[in-house]
Amino acid sequence: MRSDIQYIYPRSKQKNSDSDYCMAKTENCDVVLIVSGSDMDAFDGEAIVTPEKTYKQCPLSVENSKALRKIFNFTSPVRHKGRDVTIGLGDRLGLASGGHIRLLRESDVFPVLAQQSIRELNLTGRTYEDVLSAAVWAVFREGYTKGFGADGDHLKTHDEVRNALECGFSMITLDCSEHIPSELDCASQAEINTRYAELPADVTGALEKLYLNKTIAVSGDVMLSFCYDDFKRIVLVYLPAIEHAINIFDELINNKDIDFEVSIDETLSTTSPQAHYFVASELVRHGVEITSLAPRFVGEFQKGIDYRGDISLFERDFLVHAEIAKMFGYKLSIHSGSDKFSVFPIIHRLTDGKYHLKTAGTNWLEAVRVIAKCSPELYREIHAFALSNLQEAKKCYHITENTDYIADLSDVSDNMLPDYLNQDDARQVLHITYGLILQAKNPDGSTLFKDRIFDVLYEHEEEYFTALEEHIGKHLAALGIDETVKG
Ligand code: ZN
Repeated sequence: MRSDIQYIYPRSKQKNSDSDYCMAKTENCDVVLIVSGSDMDAFDGEAIVTPEKTYKQCPLSVENSKALRKIFNFTSPVRHKGRDVTIGLGDRLGLASGGHIRLLRESDVFPVLAQQSIRELNLTGRTYEDVLSAAVWAVFREGYTKGFGADGDHLKTHDEVRNALECGFSMITLDCSEHIPSELDCASQAEINTRYAELPADVTGALEKLYLNKTIAVSGDVMLSFCYDDFKRIVLVYLPAIEHAINIFDELINNKDIDFEVSIDETLSTTSPQAHYFVASELVRHGVEITSLAPRFVGEFQKGIDYRGDISLFERDFLVHAEIAKMFGYKLSIHSGSDKFSVFPIIHRLTDGKYHLKTAGTNWLEAVRVIAKCSPELYREIHAFALSNLQEAKKCYHITENTDYIADLSDVSDNMLPDYLNQDDARQVLHITYGLILQAKNPDGSTLFKDRIFDVLYEHEEEYFTALEEHIGKHLAALGIDETVKG
């Protein structure tokens, strides 16, 4: 359907041979306009003939985004290995990338604009094609030509990795958790000894030769050694994950321009330096090229709130992980990395300013903040719904909220509603219930909140972008990154 053009986005103007492009705002959605030329045939849309010109008005569909990527290289995601600071900016609604681009346009920070896990796909009812398409259109609209990434996050199987690659994703984060029997962390040494003895002797023999009875100089400050008991446990816990990662890399990643991240963070206990070293060393020894690796650090990295734990302990632990990563030439990846303001300076300093930081839910929370400000009625409904569906949401996410600390809605005036987004317990509740909120339906099958959320955010897009610039901007400031430095 043809809609009236309200505004042409000035940065979106592009030219390809005899065709002119731009993006435009209409009353309820953005469109792309292609004026004359042969490119028009490549896009689905409505041809419009006026006395002055012929053009096509096209929806921001997945199919059209694919056509666009073939024509304008800068709209395809690219690999970021070798870049210093890279930030994952998961955008569960597909509306945030414009704000992220505005913040990072002048900086050296490389944005991974599209980043979603299978869990998030399921909870938002989106596909990898939708996720990438949203980022492509944002990049085109903002005329952002410096490159961006797309991360198939927390993928577990060959099929999941293959699917994300086929959709054009430039980064794969392999979640090895299903191949990490973390219950062995608390098994008795006798059981460990028995299980270890069942492994093929040639395998354990070769590994023992590589790792036992020596001091490994990771760096000037960091020395590592394995004691035999711990070593047996580490082999049992991590060898299956290592084999899985080698398999996936050899079969699907090798010789492609893809960032490969290995994640061992979704486990019950923290990753010891020895375990990290063992995993990294084995992967590298088998020719796996890693862009980043995500161990589980000490303390709690919960969603959307600051670090919880002993900061000096974190610093000592993080130093060792950072040195191991430097030794092998990849970056540490910090998952659930948003809002960890008290440890950001440590992360930046100890990695020499080279790391990957993943954020996602915090960008959704900024959307909720805009709703609280611009549509208090809708916010109240969402808030009440989130509280009453919390137990369901907690099946997917681990948080330690205490709802007693969340002020009763009826005691809070409209202009104070955005303050909920400054309170940890409320943040956590709104953070993890996004899937239920977006998928909730009325009896007649229409969406309970989703359409209204999109309407509010379309109408108040400037507020949303500003909120994102401010909030992610605070992250950069705490990390010690000056976003005004020209790259
Ligand atoms: Zn993770």
